[in-house]
Amino acid sequence: MYLRDGKAPFDGMHEECGVFGVYSNETRDVAHTVYYGLYALQHRGQESCGIAVAYADKIEYYKGMGLVPEVFSGGRLDALPEGDIAIGHVRYSTTGASLLLNAQPVVFTGKCGKTALAHNGNLTNTKQLREELIASGAVFQTSIDSEVFALLINKYSDGDILKGVKEACARVEGSYALVAMTSDKLIAVRDPYGVRPLVLGKCIDDYVVASETCALDAVGATYIRDVEPGEIVVIDAEGVRSGYLGTTGKAPAACIFEYVYFARPDSVIDGVSVYAARREMGRLLAKSRRIEADIVSGVPDSGLVAAKGYSEVSGIPFADALAKNRYVGRTFIQPDQHMRENSVSVKLNALRANIEGKRVIIIDDSIVRGTTSKKIVRMLREGGAKEVHMMSCSPVVKHPCHLGIDIETYSQLIGANKTVEEIREYIGADTLTYLSVEELKAACKGAKFGFCTGCFDGQYPYPLKQHKADKFKFE
Ligand code: SF4
Repeated sequence: MYLRDGKAPFDGMHEECGVFGVYSNETRDVAHTVYYGLYALQHRGQESCGIAVAYADKIEYYKGMGLVPEVFSGGRLDALPEGDIAIGHVRYSTTGASLLLNAQPVVFTGKCGKTALAHNGNLTNTKQLREELIASGAVFQTSIDSEVFALLINKYSDGDILKGVKEACARVEGSYALVAMTSDKLIAVRDPYGVRPLVLGKCIDDYVVASETCALDAVGATYIRDVEPGEIVVIDAEGVRSGYLGTTGKAPAACIFEYVYFARPDSVIDGVSVYAARREMGRLLAKSRRIEADIVSGVPDSGLVAAKGYSEVSGIPFADALAKNRYVGRTFIQPDQHMRENSVSVKLNALRANIEGKRVIIIDDSIVRGTTSKKIVRMLREGGAKEVHMMSCSPVVKHPCHLGIDIETYSQLIGANKTVEEIREYIGADTLTYLSVEELKAACKGAKFGFCTGCFDGQYPYPLKQHKADKFKFE
């Protein structure tokens, strides 16, 4: 049994994941389509992945620990059968939860026959739901909240998967971009606040759903539209149908951090290009604070676009200040703090030729724990930079996220425990500048829905529960 920080296993399974699904009108190698879709979504989760294929009245699946090409090497992809429907999942989890048992899709046999689901997000009332399900005789095999979803769907389905999904959604709180399938249906649901992204596309006669548009592009699918907050899309032999969860009065609150960091720059979320939003973040940083400097640069990869935007407005030349080892995963996506610290210098190195004797503006997507920023500032100084001015595309991260991101407690957040000046001092920069919440929203202007900005201002779509205001501890 997995116990995290002494808590019950259902108490802290926060994840940032990617989901993909395909419905084909003919029996074919749908697993390959999912494979390439997951490949494009790899940035959303690097710890485990899986693909499930529906054929006849069966579902066959394979799940493993590691990256998509690693898990499906050695003929494992080709060993999956041809089918009509398939779903897949890439997963990132927090410390210790990196278990094959918790990999998705969740596959089970229930009232609708063989069923599979894949979930991106985090449910916030699973403790209560899990206890209720256990009291009614259910048994759990994993510690993931997605299994709660699966058991609820089965409980309420009465042989009708759509009924099961609708009623399960009425019981859960939190964020979910969900794809589910039976032997004849593919279902995609986005929670009433639309916290996590989900899009619908078409490839010849196949329909595709994915966490981001970059995955549609990867499989040659054309973007049709975003699945709307609170919408259920059903794809079967009758075509595509859509309905809504019985949730009214909920103002959509899509995660604004998707634009800052999580999503790929070539994705478009709810009508806004992630690349354009990041560039605008840099432009707004330049407008809000002019610094006398010789070059402006970004922390690869997510800070680079903003740095180019800053350069456009300020006239300060853009130059690479850091070289990145392309074979190391994202700093944020590492299983523990020890690995996270080590990975900074393995992943990044200062480009002395570009920075020696220069006043350097360095832009990062965000400052969460502060340890990475501190290392970067030191690296630039050791590389010869005369001055280092740090800028953050995100506002000060002051609150945890309980909607699917690995920021679980206040103790992990330097912004919750120090002033901006204290943070500047801690990371060792000459100056430190953050975008404001209003500026960040302005950078994402044109989005179809409103935003969650909970980690900046504490305004969450669901109230924050079970998070302690414990003291920040420096490493
Ligand atoms: S709290 Fe922050 S990271 Fe979490 S969903 Fe809201 S905006 Fe996104």
